[in-house]
Amino acid sequence: MFTIANGIILKGQDLVASKENIVVDDAKIIEIAKDAKEGKIIDVDGAVVCPSFINGHMHIGDSIIKDEGYGLSLSEMVKPPNGVKHKALANAEDDELIEAMKSSMWDMVESGTTHFIDYREGGIKGIKLLKEASKDIPIKPIILGRDDNFYGDDPDLAKVKKAIKRILGIADGIAPSGFGEITEEVANLITEECSKQGKISSIHVAESESNQMESLERFNKTEIEKGLDNNFDQLVHITNPKNDDLELIRNSQSNVVVCPRANATLNVGVARLNEMLDMGMKPLIGSDNVMLNSPNMLRELEFSLKLMSVYYKSYIDPAKLLQMATTNVCAHNINNVIGKSCIEEGNSIECNIFKSFSKNPYLNICNRCETKNILYSINKRSIV
Ligand SMILES: [Zn+2]
Repeated sequence: MFTIANGIILKGQDLVASKENIVVDDAKIIEIAKDAKEGKIIDVDGAVVCPSFINGHMHIGDSIIKDEGYGLSLSEMVKPPNGVKHKALANAEDDELIEAMKSSMWDMVESGTTHFIDYREGGIKGIKLLKEASKDIPIKPIILGRDDNFYGDDPDLAKVKKAIKRILGIADGIAPSGFGEITEEVANLITEECSKQGKISSIHVAESESNQMESLERFNKTEIEKGLDNNFDQLVHITNPKNDDLELIRNSQSNVVVCPRANATLNVGVARLNEMLDMGMKPLIGSDNVMLNSPNMLRELEFSLKLMSVYYKSYIDPAKLLQMATTNVCAHNINNVIGKSCIEEGNSIECNIFKSFSKNPYLNICNRCETKNILYSINKRSIV
């Protein structure tokens, strides 16, 4: 049993700041109160106690080709099967992949991340490699697999069905790349089976303007409309919404992940965070391909904070920005699979304790803190 004493705690899903102590027993928060004190006292002297980070969208496999292909277009970089990334993955040795993924996971642990949602390439083998790589690291990968049988204009649906069941036997869900690569029939088979098994279905949509235009031309629907019509739990990017796309998402059961740094690297646009937040949406935020970005959420937060000022000539609410990287996931059904918690009595303890530089605890983290300013990371897997 121990007490985190004298911290500024960011409590609940809304990260409400209050100066209180947290008593922890067996990795559970048993009391939060001003003068609660039990067991060993960890006096953090005004430091900020924030729920740990969840990286909402990643491709950890391309850790093997950091910064390769810089300057190429989105499809030249990442479109299956001929993008720079897929050629590199096809030629990589297993040991090389495992070592690169481990190194990225340790980067995440050190920078305060306890969960990440990964789009895992390479079918069943790819999923097994990530499980092997993560087994001794205090982080929880949420693995969304895929299979080569999904692709093409006329896929063998019997093979697709088999592949879906095989993947869901060992993964947390399924994420094909995008509607450019799969038919709606395949999309439907994926989402139906995921929903039946209580797992996560996710897909990239509206990453680039050209994806959206092509979808409108071919199907008279935006990629976002297709994602919603096919009942995907999670839509990644929505950087280029059209018409009433954002409104449709807000009124749906689907959740959204935005990736501002990846969008900037690939110059495909700026995700409209302020509008989404004003509409009451609760997006997650992710660093996307490790080939494009470091998986460090502190870098994602600072970049997004400043980018919104430039884009809107107005400010983003830093508390809401921080919720995107920490507690927004708790509001969505997918958290049944993910199991992320906020700081409340009865929950597991999963927090980072940041050195305090400023009176605004949210800007302190988003605008000031670097990895070296994390005094402690405390979660059920470890106290680092
Ligand atoms: Zn992605």
